Amino acid sequence: MIFAAVDPDDLASCVSCGLCLPHCPTYRITGNDSQSPRGRIELVAAVRGGEIPLDDGVRHSLNSCVQCMGCLPACPSSVRYDRIIAPVIDELASTSARKVMVKRFLFRALTAIAALAQRLHLMPRRFPIPPVAVRMRRLRVPAASKNNRGEVILFRGCVMDMWYRQVHQATVDVLSRLGYNVRLSDPGMCCGALHAHAGIAEPASKLTANVRKCHSGSILIVNSAGCGAHLLRHAEGLGEVVDVMEFVSRHLDESPLDLGSRSDDVVVVHDACHLRNIQGSHLATHRVLDLFYEVRSIPDDGLCCGAGGAYAIDHAASAKHIVDRKNEAIQSVLDAQVRYISSGNPGCSGQLQAHRPQTWNALTIVHPIELVARALGSEDRHQSHHQGDADRS
Ligand code: SF4
Ligand code: SF4
Repeated sequence: MIFAAVDPDDLASCVSCGLCLPHCPTYRITGNDSQSPRGRIELVAAVRGGEIPLDDGVRHSLNSCVQCMGCLPACPSSVRYDRIIAPVIDELASTSARKVMVKRFLFRALTAIAALAQRLHLMPRRFPIPPVAVRMRRLRVPAASKNNRGEVILFRGCVMDMWYRQVHQATVDVLSRLGYNVRLSDPGMCCGALHAHAGIAEPASKLTANVRKCHSGSILIVNSAGCGAHLLRHAEGLGEVVDVMEFVSRHLDESPLDLGSRSDDVVVVHDACHLRNIQGSHLATHRVLDLFYEVRSIPDDGLCCGAGGAYAIDHAASAKHIVDRKNEAIQSVLDAQVRYISSGNPGCSGQLQAHRPQTWNALTIVHPIELVARALGSEDRHQSHHQGDADRS
């Protein structure tokens, strides 16, 4: 049976009310019910029941789901769309195009090629990856102290570690200032989130199991919303998986830090779907940034930006339509005081960066923890005692 792994009770729980439709980015850009949560659930049920074949049209409707999970909190019947779409994507997945995600050395090679292409101006402007460093900076980690408040592990991951290392440095700096001993996960330890999103199930579960094996019982700090959401879903055996802004929000009050005066700079906060719809912890970013900056929300109920794992590459045209809507919503809150757009997910940051209008030249897209580090005067401030060469990659 096709889609046998989908629980029929999950399918039957949808009452076709359509209240999820306005929260679905693919429905918003197409107006087509087959590209809505309701329509996709009906298609899966019909294919599973043998009423319709799994033809190209059905495949397209299902594969075009960004997996943003905007439909989850919007559904009054608590339909578990996440449990429906995950096995469907696994079954539809073709692994051939995505093997580059499976091997770290391929990813490293891709990163080196990307860095070179960017320097030679050969990289298409709309390709959703940030400017990549040719030589990555070593992460500087203060030596552990007995007087500190405990130990946390910074989960380095793959994309974050190679493309957003400055976010890791800011994370280490802020957590150290809050009084925590920070240890780093091994370089190259990938959680499998991108694989799972692409339906490459077996490598995804092996990678996740490896994280569990190495860090069982630890407090794992994650600064990529996508990785955090994936690890939280598979957190059994891990001590605690917590987004860095959630952790800072919980512990900033107890810290003896002088927070200094509030900046006049304005930050527009983009809520990553994986923080908002899956982890439910997006408000922590607003709370923490509000201590240091004027914060503005984007008035679109957290609609997805179209990044979605490799979606922005695999479904470039849809992703462009989706991000154009996001940019319109961002534009509506911009004025001369806005200096930053913050995003807690590398995919979203890359997507916003790749599709930013030229009129946004004065704006910087940053991770919120970088803004906290900047406000605390921690950015690029490296203590005299280090664990040594933390970059063992
Ligand atoms: S998924 Fe939920 S909100 Fe959407 S149509 Fe079904 S019951 Fe209604
Ligand atoms: S996960 Fe996102 S794109 Fe997919 S059906 Fe739900 S709201 Fe639409």
